[in-house]
Amino acid sequence: MEMPEACPVCHQTYEPEPGFYYGAMYISSGFSTAVLLGIGFLLYYLANDPPLWVYVTTVAVAVLAVTPLLFRYARAVMLYGVGGASFDPRYLSR
Ligand SMILES: [Zn+2]
Repeated sequence: MEMPEACPVCHQTYEPEPGFYYGAMYISSGFSTAVLLGIGFLLYYLANDPPLWVYVTTVAVAVLAVTPLLFRYARAVMLYGVGGASFDPRYLSR
């Protein structure tokens, strides 16, 4: 959960204001829902509609496994979408 205050390369601040990342919880929730629905559809069509416990177990394990990734991507989406950060290709090669 800890983040540096700013990017060591381009000095972009990572927290524009206190509590900035509360909104990222909603983005992360959306990502989790997408994972849940994706796995649900895959199980339904590829595993021929298995019993309920297979859905619950598979979705729970998958969501837990990707939560650290979703957490970081949700913060990145928040920072770029709401926080005013912008991509600068000059920093790509460093
Ligand atoms: Zn940077």
